[in-house]
Amino acid sequence: MEDITKIFKEKHLKVTKPRKEIYNFIVTHPIHPTAEVVFKEVQKKLPDISFATVYNVLNKFVEIGLIKEFKIGKEMHFDGNTAPHIHFICIHCGKVKDAKFEDYKKVIQTAQKEGWKVEEFSLFVYGICPDCRRKSNN
Ligand SMILES: [Zn+2]
Ligand SMILES: [Zn+2]
Repeated sequence: MEDITKIFKEKHLKVTKPRKEIYNFIVTHPIHPTAEVVFKEVQKKLPDISFATVYNVLNKFVEIGLIKEFKIGKEMHFDGNTAPHIHFICIHCGKVKDAKFEDYKKVIQTAQKEGWKVEEFSLFVYGICPDCRRKSNN
């Protein structure tokens, strides 16, 4: 893992304990947590932290491009993986898994051929995950 202090410096962000813990949790847990989940986890290390702080830090991170956010249903999820990738979303258990997608360049090229300048790329695949399939024999 890259040095957090260095990463923050590049983004002109002051290193604070909450920022450090929140960022650390997000990048070491590729589970695409909601702000609620991040709050509960970070609280274990910083018992005095408020939900508002977690929420604000997450939004700041998104604003400066340190992490990404996306909506599933009504909930916002956060992603420490900022490289282009796709997401598999289990409609049973709600798990969100990253997957490499080498062909994303083709998608971007298609947009460029149509005259678009691509700012953002996201692809979500909805289905039933291997764990849920095993349990239900689906
Ligand atoms: Zn599942
Ligand atoms: Zn992801």
